[in-house]
Amino acid sequence: MPQRADYLAALGLADWRQRRPGVPQLAAAPPADSSPPAGAPASVAFGADPPRADSWDSVAAEVAACTRCELHRCRTKTVFGVGDRAAGWLVVGEAPGADEDRQGEPFVGRAGQLLNSMLLGIGLKRDQVYIANVLKCRPPNNRDPQPVEVAQCLPYLERQIALLRPRIMLAVGRIAAQNLLATDTPIGKLRGRLHAFGAGRIPLVVTYHPAYLLRSPTEKRKAWEDLKFARRVFAGDGAA
Ligand code: URA
Repeated sequence: MPQRADYLAALGLADWRQRRPGVPQLAAAPPADSSPPAGAPASVAFGADPPRADSWDSVAAEVAACTRCELHRCRTKTVFGVGDRAAGWLVVGEAPGADEDRQGEPFVGRAGQLLNSMLLGIGLKRDQVYIANVLKCRPPNNRDPQPVEVAQCLPYLERQIALLRPRIMLAVGRIAAQNLLATDTPIGKLRGRLHAFGAGRIPLVVTYHPAYLLRSPTEKRKAWEDLKFARRVFAGDGAA
């Protein structure tokens, strides 16, 4: 059975145990100070109507039939999300690529293999987290999502988040980070500190996209720092 060291080796981080502790202190913003009350039903407001209870089945059905933007014309499958719906961790990527579009599951290609290794590096199996994307359909030739596509699709992810109520979110890549945090700050400035998502102020950590890490392996060490930071936040020690 593969060992943790094998996954760290995949990250180019086999020597992490020998590192001195003097990693620069991460500038952490205050952690989330509130989350939806335990047991509160997830709900979505529709105009003046009273909020109605939402469900995984209804979001999934709407996504499967979605024609809100032009991407529905060229998709093979929608990519809803995968993983443990009771997970404390939510990993958010950008959009499906070719493999994901074919299989209907996020992060199943080469970037997905690296994401799995990154998660295993902090002791998490893929099926112990929930994984979703900002967009549910593949943009042609993997181009960046357009603002109109994000505007139409992000509400699905927001509903998934309301249902999941994660204890931590990991935004992988610039597109996920900037859209979740509604900012155009470069990713290099977003990583390394703690953010809060939405009204529930869910703790959110930003790291590089695994596809970028495949192209720029020297950045893997920074991603490893981000993941360890996220693990500390999850353990309740966000400022450490
Ligand atoms: N890249 C992403 O951001 N998401 C996927 O699902 C696959 C590749």
